[in-house]
Amino acid sequence: MSWHATALTLFPEMFPGPLGLSLAGRALREERWRLDTRQIRDFAADKHRTVDDTPCGGGAGMVLRPDVVDAACAAALAEGAGRPLVYLTPRGRLLDQALVRELAAGPGVILVCGRYEGLDQRVIEARGMREVSAGDFVLSGGEPAALLLLDACVRLLPGVMGGADSAAEESFAEVDAPLLEYPHYTRPVEWQGRAVPEVLLSGHHAAVARWRREQAEAATRERRPDLWARHVSRRAG
Ligand code: SAM
Repeated sequence: MSWHATALTLFPEMFPGPLGLSLAGRALREERWRLDTRQIRDFAADKHRTVDDTPCGGGAGMVLRPDVVDAACAAALAEGAGRPLVYLTPRGRLLDQALVRELAAGPGVILVCGRYEGLDQRVIEARGMREVSAGDFVLSGGEPAALLLLDACVRLLPGVMGGADSAAEESFAEVDAPLLEYPHYTRPVEWQGRAVPEVLLSGHHAAVARWRREQAEAATRERRPDLWARHVSRRAG
């Protein structure tokens, strides 16, 4: 059974979108993973196919009804139980490589894409959804966040990425003490007066590895003090 993703959405036409191309698209055609979408509107009970209502307590916008979203979740679970329900929301824990790895190692995911002001809290709790954020910004819907999460998971599935080494070396590869990756260079050796760092042309593998490590540490220290603090404390402990 291949890794199985289902997106619950008001815009199923947004899928597979960019995931129909390149590595993920090829893997989809090779059935290394499976992608289904469910139109949330199909689970509305009234003839107007209403999925939302005004927020209790007042305020702007609309809220997705719990009964409608719950019925969509039930239908997705019936296609393959054991998959976690993930609600994409800026209120969730930040998506990171550790969570991507965990999800990619499981049977798949059911992704709930919010719209308007989001989901009624009761269906999030009743269904035990994991709340996951793509970052500290607000999107107009959960679909781009779902595509992002899927892209990150799919490239880790067996047989999807060409060189296994690239996953081992890239940013966040060390789960317990993550670092950003070192910078990359290719030919021409000199371009617009800028030279490739000499050590990379030396053929001296240990020196290259040492230089890359230093660069990764320096970038992390400068750009991501939060990651650097974690790195230093894990290394010490
Ligand atoms: N009222 C919400 C808030 O302030 O937290 C924002 C709602 S947003 C306009 C509509 C939907 O987009 C959300 O329900 C969620 O599914 C999705 N969304 C927006 N930003 C997101 C993010 N950073 N990560 C994941 N999903 C996001």
